[in-house]
Amino acid sequence: MSEADCIFCKIARGEIDAEVVHDEDDVLAFRDINSKAPVHLLVIPRQHVANLEEVGELPDGVVKRLFEVSSAVAEEAGVTESGYAVRVNNGPDAQQEVFHLHLHVMGGRKLGMP
Ligand code: AMP
Ligand code: ZN
Repeated sequence: MSEADCIFCKIARGEIDAEVVHDEDDVLAFRDINSKAPVHLLVIPRQHVANLEEVGELPDGVVKRLFEVSSAVAEEAGVTESGYAVRVNNGPDAQQEVFHLHLHVMGGRKLGMP
């Protein structure tokens, strides 16, 4: 998957519309198009990395921001007190569909494992 074809790179470049809830230099957050919880947001680095095996390619500060932005958008969505899950689907058994690293931020209902 090249950056030219990557759907989340296209969102980051503004070539595909998304419901963006947070936009900063290195990190973007938007609503999941097929939400599986009342709050279901995706937090991505603007820089293309496919999965956790490539996370070392991101500057440390960007990795930190992914989590800080996850917390911030959860707060804005009103689920800090009720709680939320932050999840990375990585590889086939996790049914990863989009090979641009992203954190799912889900809340607004009781969430179980897996
Ligand atoms: P996964 O790779 O398993 O973590 O899942 C990718 C997630 O991206 C799914 O929850 C999709 O609903 C979501 N998704 C795919 N395309 C878009 C899009 N264009 N805008 C927002 N969310 C999307
Ligand atoms: Zn990408």
